Amino acid sequence: MSSHTVPTVEASEPTAYRMLIGGEWVEAADGRTLEVITPIDRHRVIATTPRAGAEDVDRAVAAARRAQRGWAALPFTERQGALLRIADDLEDAAEDLAALTALDTGNALRTQARPEALLLASAFRYFAGLAGELKGVTLPSGTDALSLTRRVPVGVVAGILPWNSPLMIAAFKLPAALVSGNAMILKAAEDAPTTILELARVCERHLPPGVLGVLTGYGPEVGQALVEHRGVDKVSFTGSTATGSGVAAAAGERLAHVSLELGGKSPCIVFPDSDTDEVVEQVLLATRFARQGQSCTSGSRLFLHESVHDSFLDRLVDRVSQLVVGDPREEATDIGCIINQRQWDRVQGYVDDALATDGIRVAYDGRPALTVGEPGFYHAPMILSQVDNGWRIAREEIFGPVLSVIPWREEDEVVAMANDSHYGLAAFVFARDLGMALRTAQRVESGWVQVNQGGGQQVGQSYGGMKASGQGREFSLEGMLEGFTQIQQINVRLT
Ligand code: NAD
Repeated sequence: MSSHTVPTVEASEPTAYRMLIGGEWVEAADGRTLEVITPIDRHRVIATTPRAGAEDVDRAVAAARRAQRGWAALPFTERQGALLRIADDLEDAAEDLAALTALDTGNALRTQARPEALLLASAFRYFAGLAGELKGVTLPSGTDALSLTRRVPVGVVAGILPWNSPLMIAAFKLPAALVSGNAMILKAAEDAPTTILELARVCERHLPPGVLGVLTGYGPEVGQALVEHRGVDKVSFTGSTATGSGVAAAAGERLAHVSLELGGKSPCIVFPDSDTDEVVEQVLLATRFARQGQSCTSGSRLFLHESVHDSFLDRLVDRVSQLVVGDPREEATDIGCIINQRQWDRVQGYVDDALATDGIRVAYDGRPALTVGEPGFYHAPMILSQVDNGWRIAREEIFGPVLSVIPWREEDEVVAMANDSHYGLAAFVFARDLGMALRTAQRVESGWVQVNQGGGQQVGQSYGGMKASGQGREFSLEGMLEGFTQIQQINVRLT
């Protein structure tokens, strides 16, 4: 990014971005644009991007189709080399990308934005290392026959991204798709597109034109057009469950491949032997308060055993009250801004609804102590206790810094409550007794269960949800093979 000036909130002129199609940085075919504001200041337009439509999708798909065959035909070492060079450049650009993430998404630099930018570089390095694993097998069919399989790319893949952690979600999709010989067209979220455009600027230096495209604009316009386009072989979607369900229906209609990473309402279960400050730290990570709760894997339902309920909650409240809500660009800030007014109102709506519920207790309300506010979309963390697992705040994804605390007594009871959700993305189990912990971990219906830790995402782990939280896995060797390749069987008669 050295050749490009990263916009600052103080900049008077918004950065006028173009999107990437066929190796060219272009406007929308009809010239329309949309404005991007920063969550730090609702009045400040930091960028304009093209507002792409169906014609732009046609152009991007045609360019991707032209490029994909040649890309797939390269020896794997060449794709590997390209990914390694991208990883090097991303590492160099990490601090700039982190600063832009803070401005673009409102995610705090130290707790979120910087780790997201660094994860991106290591994901490219990791998947470069897997380039030689795209192997087929041979059947022992005797000397008169050769029976072999090849792992071939799916083709042109659309990667549809949300706004909450754009670089991290791109890291789940892009390097795996590229190394396995696909072309990818990313659709950046309209609320936070700038880091994805900067990522593309780094990647295009090392990729043949058309292998990566980036489109910007609104979901129902450019997103829908991508999903419906017959030249898109697969849609890899991350976003809300409601949108994902429509995407799956549209892709299914034309029998395109699809994978979905959707919402969550993840349980976080604390056993009686885990009433310690160390566990409080891990539970705090699990809440994803440091990302304003805007995380699909947020452990937003905290199940505390009744024997340690009050003591653990006191510790947690004490710790949460020390968190600094502030300008996401400041190193001292723990919690930045919610993405926009609509999400802020939505979070507040859940809070108002919860506070009007009989029997609820407010264990912590950070709002009176908040020192920041307008023009940024700041929301203090809240901990609500004595919540019933059937209440709306315990069933629906709030996507804000709001934690529901639910007491429990018996192991079977807490497992049943944890699983009484249409979601199944993540779960957290805290118990020193490892038998108990692992038994519980295996009984929870979630795609990703963490034991005695709250934030241990690793490059190379399988990532994805059960139930309405999604279909398919990403970020791992298996995710790459299953999600971005297909098997071709070849049988040869040798006589
Ligand atoms: P969203 O569903 O509103 O939008 C996601 C993306 O889909 C955006 O780029 C949007 O423009 C696009 N889109 C919207 N309508 C479309 C359509 N009709 N066709 C094609 N694309 C369309 O989600 P969001 O508000 O950006 O993100 C928040 C949601 O994402 C939360 O529910 C969260 O749980 C989920 N999420 C899931 C994961 C995961 O890995 N499971 C990760 C991050 C976020």
